[in-house]
Amino acid sequence: MLKPNIYPFMPPRKPIYEGKAKQLFEGPEPGTLIQHFKDDATAFNNQKRGTISGKGVLNNRISECLMLRLAEIGIPTHFIRSLNMREQLVKAVQIIPLEIVIRNYAAGSFAKRYGVEEGTPLGQPLVEYFLKNDKLGDPLVSEEHIFAFQWATTQDIDDIRLMALRTNDFLCGLFTGLGIRLVDFKLEFGRSFENGMERIILADEISPDNCRLWDMKTGQKMDKDRFRLDLGNVEDAYREVARRLGVLPTEAETAAQGKAEKPDIAPAE
Ligand code: UDP
Repeated sequence: MLKPNIYPFMPPRKPIYEGKAKQLFEGPEPGTLIQHFKDDATAFNNQKRGTISGKGVLNNRISECLMLRLAEIGIPTHFIRSLNMREQLVKAVQIIPLEIVIRNYAAGSFAKRYGVEEGTPLGQPLVEYFLKNDKLGDPLVSEEHIFAFQWATTQDIDDIRLMALRTNDFLCGLFTGLGIRLVDFKLEFGRSFENGMERIILADEISPDNCRLWDMKTGQKMDKDRFRLDLGNVEDAYREVARRLGVLPTEAETAAQGKAEKPDIAPAE
């Protein structure tokens, strides 16, 4: 069923998939999708739910900025172009059912699992794989599991590891320049089929929803842990990340966005 668009000047479009923080719609051309960023937030495998006002707009901007910078250094990504404050056009991919977590410091579930203090630096960047399966609570899996269950091939994992570590290298440098420590983050990759060629590209998003970002001076958390741990000022932290990246929406853009989301005329069913 077609859904009315919150942007009254755009036609209704076909929803493809609704996740926790994002929604995907059919794109205007074959092989494309519209990725819509919501303000909804969940944590602890959906046990905690909430809304962070303005988060979708900020994550759309932050993810666009980081994906574009990564493309510049040769990491293939699904990002095509920004459509509006909450939406971007992306390449349709077949998602590989793995969450790739790259860690530079111990934090979160990792610090608990291995009994190390949050913030302990790791001897080298660590790549971990989790099966994308909410019912099973996204269990940690090894490369052996990945090959035995045929979730990905050895070549896929070689490509994914290389791209994940290159992304980590680049983002660590970029965030350090902004006074932010990249503690850990999660990536998702997908199979793209273009011009008869199959290749693995970076998909999903890179934002404070799936990174741990700590202010280097104060140690303050600037990411979703503020929501997970009820630390308050969640939106301010996301805004500060966007500000340091130079992509904070202006007041005029925010006002125009508010108007587009609350149209005077209700969109047609
Ligand atoms: N992460 C994510 N989605 C998940 C699980 C983790 O984006 O479903 C991110 C999380 O924000 C953090 C990194 O991956 O930046 C490592 O998270 P961890 O495995 O420590 O899990 P958590 O402590 O968040 O449960």
